Amino acid sequence: MGQAVRPGADDTNIEGMLMKIAMIGTGYVGLVSGACFADLGHTVVCIDNDEDKLARLHRGEIPIYEPGLEELVKKNVTTRRLSFTSWADDDIGNQDAIFIAVGTPPSETDGSADLSAVYAVAAELAPRLAGYTIVVNKSTVPVGTGSEVEAIIGKTNPDADFDVASNPEFLREGSAIDDFMKPDRVVVGTDSERAREVMRSIYRPLILNETPVLITGRTTAEIIKYANNAFLATKVTFINEISDICEAVGADVQDVSKGIGLDSRIGQKFLQAGAGFGGSCFPKDALSLTDTARKVGRPTQIVESVIEANTERKRRMADKVIAACGGDVRGKTLAVLGVTFKPNTDDMRDAPSLDIIPLLQKAGATIRAFDPEGMQQAKPMLPGVEWGTDSYEVMEGAAALLILTEWNAFRMLDINRVKTLLTQPLIVDLRNIYTLAEMELAGVTYHSVGRPPVGAS
Ligand code: NAD
Repeated sequence: MGQAVRPGADDTNIEGMLMKIAMIGTGYVGLVSGACFADLGHTVVCIDNDEDKLARLHRGEIPIYEPGLEELVKKNVTTRRLSFTSWADDDIGNQDAIFIAVGTPPSETDGSADLSAVYAVAAELAPRLAGYTIVVNKSTVPVGTGSEVEAIIGKTNPDADFDVASNPEFLREGSAIDDFMKPDRVVVGTDSERAREVMRSIYRPLILNETPVLITGRTTAEIIKYANNAFLATKVTFINEISDICEAVGADVQDVSKGIGLDSRIGQKFLQAGAGFGGSCFPKDALSLTDTARKVGRPTQIVESVIEANTERKRRMADKVIAACGGDVRGKTLAVLGVTFKPNTDDMRDAPSLDIIPLLQKAGATIRAFDPEGMQQAKPMLPGVEWGTDSYEVMEGAAALLILTEWNAFRMLDINRVKTLLTQPLIVDLRNIYTLAEMELAGVTYHSVGRPPVGAS
């Protein structure tokens, strides 16, 4: 087993800084983190309880769509630094660190995070611990989860020599590898100096690349992750509300975003008006933070409002589409491009399309849709949708084109072809991927978000 050495203390002892790591959960976070840790030189074994997923990984298939991941996994499997196994097949004792990267979805009953998978993992790994190990929560978990994991392990295996640390993950699907390898910062929450040393060794290559590492208490690290996502969700919701005002007064929200984003106190990122935030993190993390806030007697008015405004946003977007189609979509076919919550992922969790499309169907529209990577996941979630094989196929004979996700492939459509395929040249773009000038030039009726409509009578 590698011995933890503070980076810089003895830079010649690289061997001693290479760690043995187990990654529990091979989803969007676990698989990317496991492959990246292996690429940094550590030996990583990834464990999942989904047999089908494991079988696919063993065959060299990647169960999710994430750019660059297939090559990274392949490379590190070949060098034997990365392997996959099940609980039954592996003895994960003798690891320097065991990362928990299982899902923490919202519970069915309230907004709280469902921690059953995290606690199941704690109980599963406890009897296997051998030698000093840090158990690291990479899953996004509310305050107190680290203590509960510690209690479960301590109760199940009173002799275990371990610490529980928090190491929230900030990667974004679609650019996950880059985000992991070049993060804005790494946050490590633990009061144990021993655990800090191991974590420094694990992240040593990134630290040498000048990545800031913030070491905090465990509770603080848990809050950082939620505060981070709640803030970003707030920023998105803020600009969405500003876009409504822009529409009402004839202003252009994209110029407003630039105008305020150039203020270094605000920054340009997460200021793109759109269909409402979605995905596997913002909605559930905002909910979980409000749940924690209420439980500790400090309800957060801002985050509660953000959740409410975002829910309302998706209904308003459906209304906007219907209004753009002349106020009635009964009997009309709408061509939808993009159903995933953002481009470069196949993740459909809480995608705005899951609200907007059923509302349009309820209003009487027939939906024909295409997404470059998300259709397999989307099919069971969006009953009644007719799925196409490419962008143009779904437009044939449709009354309007609706853009719901800003995949690059949709940014370069042949607009003349689009016009010949649709029954009328009507585009509703909820991601603002075209300029008003090019749509005007193309002779299209174009409705976007927070900008004046083009060509509408
Ligand atoms: P996911 O659903 O894609 O993956 C979770 C994996 O854990 C699945 O493969 C599942 O089979 C496995 N699993 C569940 N129970 C298990 C068990 N007992 N033993 C072994 N494996 C088990 O989830 P995700 O998107 O990777 O998210 C994981 C955590 O990371 C969540 O808390 C999430 O909030 C957080 N997070 C996600 C992202 C993201 O972009 N997806 C970013 C940052 C943080």
